[in-house]
Amino acid sequence: MKNEVVVQFPSLSEYESLARVIVSSFMLPYDPTFDELSDVKTVVSEAVTNAIIHGYEYQPGIVELRLAIVAGILTIVIKDNGQGIDNIEQVKEPLFTTKPECERSGMGFTIMEQFMDRCHIESTPGKGTVVTLEK
Ligand code: ATP
Ligand code: MG
Repeated sequence: MKNEVVVQFPSLSEYESLARVIVSSFMLPYDPTFDELSDVKTVVSEAVTNAIIHGYEYQPGIVELRLAIVAGILTIVIKDNGQGIDNIEQVKEPLFTTKPECERSGMGFTIMEQFMDRCHIESTPGKGTVVTLEK
């Protein structure tokens, strides 16, 4: 049996905190350090916020959070069926944002890459985005 949890929630900003609580609860049995917990909560928060405010900018939808631990490796997948990303290399650049007017700093993906061992983005314009993070 694979140790995996899948949660789906609507693209409402109040569910960002729910996602943070779910990932911390999921990790607790594995005795994470304070820093590990804090980093993972931060990246989940960044990715979920991106799905809500960018992916579902024009139309609300469902965000899926998938968590798994296999052989000591935590995998987190955040998926939306929103507008997708045209140029993945560009959005990964530090300080790149399409929402400067909303005081976005364009650091979400940079933080995800720094805090995790792997940050992989798959996206299809018009179909949605899947961000896979590993630690
Ligand atoms: P910050 O995260 O610092 O508040 P930001 O969200 O703009 O600012 P990133 O998280 O690095 O910065 O994302 C960079 C850009 O990638 C966004 O401005 C947006 O254009 C695009 N993007 C990110 N996630 C998604 C997504 N799930 N769907 C569509 N576009 C996305
Ligand atoms: Mg962001």
